[in-house]
Parts: sequence; C-alpha cells; structure tokens
Amino acid sequence: MKDRRSDNELQEVLKRLPSVDRLLHHREVKKLLDGCPRKIVVNSIREVLEARRKKLTNGYGHLEPPSIEEIVEEVTAAVKNRLEWTLRPVINATGVIIHTNLGRSLLPTEAIDRVCEIASRYNNLEYDLAGGKRGSRYVHAESLIAEITGAEGALVVNNNAAAVFLVLNTLAQGREVIVSRGELVEIGGSFRMPDVMAKSGAVLKEVGCTNRTHLRDYEGAISENTAMILKVHKSNYRIVGFTKEVSTAEIAELAHRKGLLAVEDMGSGCFIDLSRFGLRDEPVVQTELAEGMDLVTFSGDKLLGGPQAGIIVGKKELVEKCKKNPMTRAFRVDKLTLAALEATLRLYLDEATAIKNIPTLRMIATPLHELEERARKLAGLLTEAISSAEDGASGERYFIGVEPTVSRVGGGSLPEQDLPSWAVSVRCSSASRIEKLLRSNKPPIIVRVENDALLMDVRTLLPEDDGYIVTAFKKILGEHSR
Ligand SMILES: *Cc1c(COP(=O)(O)O)cnc(C)c1O
Repeated sequence: MKDRRSDNELQEVLKRLPSVDRLLHHREVKKLLDGCPRKIVVNSIREVLEARRKKLTNGYGHLEPPSIEEIVEEVTAAVKNRLEWTLRPVINATGVIIHTNLGRSLLPTEAIDRVCEIASRYNNLEYDLAGGKRGSRYVHAESLIAEITGAEGALVVNNNAAAVFLVLNTLAQGREVIVSRGELVEIGGSFRMPDVMAKSGAVLKEVGCTNRTHLRDYEGAISENTAMILKVHKSNYRIVGFTKEVSTAEIAELAHRKGLLAVEDMGSGCFIDLSRFGLRDEPVVQTELAEGMDLVTFSGDKLLGGPQAGIIVGKKELVEKCKKNPMTRAFRVDKLTLAALEATLRLYLDEATAIKNIPTLRMIATPLHELEERARKLAGLLTEAISSAEDGASGERYFIGVEPTVSRVGGGSLPEQDLPSWAVSVRCSSASRIEKLLRSNKPPIIVRVENDALLMDVRTLLPEDDGYIVTAFKKILGEHSR
C-alpha cells in the first residue's frame, strides 16, 4: 500500500539528518580530512545527504532517517569514489589487439621514455636551432616519415579523421570527389565518410554499386568540376561474393590522365607487409604511394602502433597546401604526440626492431606455440589458486583449461581476418557474474564470455598481467565462498 507520509512528517524526518558541519566533526570524517582535500570531503558529504534527502522525500511508508554511522560509511565510500582515477589502466584479455574502447595501441617503451624526456624539459617544438628563430612544429616527424615511406612530404595532425577532412577541405572544397559506393564507410564513433565530406565542403559523387565498381564507373562520373578520386580502406567490413574493385594503380592512372588527384584514406597505415603473419590484404603505405597515389592518410595509433595522430603523406606541393590551411591549427598535435611518434617511427628504420619493440606488431607476430605455452602457464597458476580458494567453498565448481581461440587485430584493420590464438577458459555456472567482478577489479580485467565460459585470450596480455589475474580470481572466489 502506498501511503505517502504527510509534509509535516517528512520535514521532521529530514531535519533529523545530520548537518554538513556535524559530519565534518565526526571522528571518522576527520580521519578522511587528514588524507584528502577538504573540498572532496565536503562535496562527498553534500552528495550523500542530497541522495538521502531524495530517498526520504520519494519514500513511502515508514522510512526512518539513517544513523550517523550509516551516513559516515556512505561518505567514506563517496570520497573513495571521487578520488578514483577516471582514466585507468585495464587488463585486456579480449584478444582484440587494437581495441578502440581500450585505448588502441600500447606505446613502445622507447616512445614512453621520449615523452617523459620531452615533457619534463623545454624543447625546440617551434624553434629553429640553426637559425635561432621561430621554427615549425611540423618539421619534427617529417623527415623520418619520408625516410620510411619514400614520400616527398608529410604532415602530422591529431587523428586520421582530421587528416581526411583537411585533405578534402584543402584540395576539393566546392568540387566533386568520386568515391566507390562500396567504400562509403562508417567507423565507430561517428566517422562517416559522406558526413565528413559534406562538412569539408567537398561534394560526394558516388559511383558503382555496393559490391562492384569498375574503372568505367569512375571514368563516367568525371566532370568539369571533379577534383579528386578518393579510395577508402574498407576498415571494418568486407564485401564478399560477386565483387569487383579497381586497383590503386588503375585509379591513380585514370586520375592523372584526367588531370585529377588520386587520394587514399588508408585507415590503419601499415609500413610492414603483414602477410607473413597470416594477415593478407592490408595495404602498405609505401606500396600505395609507389602505385601512384598523390596523398595517403592514416592513423598513428592503429597498425602503426604509435600515439593518436593522423598522418598525411605524398606529394610535397599538396602537403604544403594542407599545411597552409588555417584549419591545420585546429588539428595540430602537441609535443607529447610528436615525441612519441618520432620515437615510434625511429623503430621502423629496422623492420625486425619494429616487430620486436612495437607492442601492436609484437602481439600480431607472436607465434602460436608461444601463445599456447603462455595459456598453459596461466591456467596452471589459476588452477593452483582456485583449488586453494575452493577449500570449504560454496560448492560452485570452476573448470580451468586452455583452448584454441581467435584474436582480432581490431581498430578497423584487417576486417574479418582472424589470428589463431590460445585462451585460458574458466567454466562455471556464474560466468557472467564473475565477468562483472573482474571488470570491477583493481585493475579491471576485461574478458570475453562465451556460453558458460570466461575466455582470456593471452595474445593481448602483458607479462605482469598474470599476477593480477591470479590475485583477482583468488579474491573473487574467496569472497564468493564466504
Ligand atoms: C580509423 C579510420 C579513420 C579514422 O581514424 P582516426 O585516427 O580514428 O581518426 C578514418 N578512415 C578509415 C578508413 C579508418 O579506418
């Protein structure tokens, strides 16, 4: 029965809630004040009191005001919550290497060290040391990119979305850009090629059909007002069956024969042929340029394995035009990005070093037998930990094993191409509940749940993650059995 208490009653109850001041003088709260800023404590108290007031106001029946101890307990929890970092490291046991939701690529140690070095000191970000005058931030990664890709010019901006926008806005504003209907991609987080193009001022001219586009389709669409043919990497989908797409070389040849620009949004931007690791079809930047693309754009934190950035490479004259676009200022990268990028790029000067030292490439290149060994080792540690936690436990059984699985490169690279891998599996009747507990662990552990099993793909685990995973399981099962 709903029987709302009267306004008078309610006022009485609300009055019995302790004041902020009284709480600030409570012994436990004083302890909190010793360890953290007063502002955090005061705001936490206000938050708790406000929530309590709401609860009482909306309450039906005999809601009693809480005891001061209860409130203090809530304040303590609220303070803890406020002091928690919002951006935190997590353990990625999903097997998705470039996981956009989990921060994409991990930086190589060399890049991390370089960021610290540059961030803690003054530097020549925009200072020409030889001339003793103002310089340009855009020179910093340029020569390395040219060295690796063979491109005449390079420009680094904030991300690939900005790179694509800048190229279109600089070179095709008010003019037509021809794109195959099979390539009008949407990348997660609202990067839609048609929308980006509209905002850039370029006019999209779609050609072909979803599954088939011929060279004659491109040719037939060219008009007085065409500026560019744009090829877009099908980053997160694949068109299979009765398909036809036009090669890079053919597009470039047609564009140049008609006095147009040939540009490619490569998405991932790979410098190394990955087919030896079982990944076919990911175009290599150097090849696309050699086949005649005037400009290509790609991300810094996908397959390249560096910091978030968008890289434009190709003909010097076109890159210079992009640099002069006032929008470039809005997309400019900071010194930390440039420091990390330069250090990452340097690793590419020797391919073996790049594969060994860049985490994204290293994870792709890890041999299957190593992954199996790794999975067996972690499964062994977990079995040991869980069997001791199960002593006198609730009766819930956990079956730990290893099984073959598939990892994904992710991040809009190599869609539908799976990498065979190994996972540790934990089968139990409460897999989804354990998944949630692992997610709220410190550090959070992100796993896959398939049927009744928790799966942890070891490909994306770092060496130190094993210890955290074992501790987390011990804790969770220990609490479960109590
Ligand atoms: C990922 C991607 C983008 C966006 O790149 P960001 O660096 O995330 O801005 C654009 N185009 C393609 C084809 C992509 O795969």
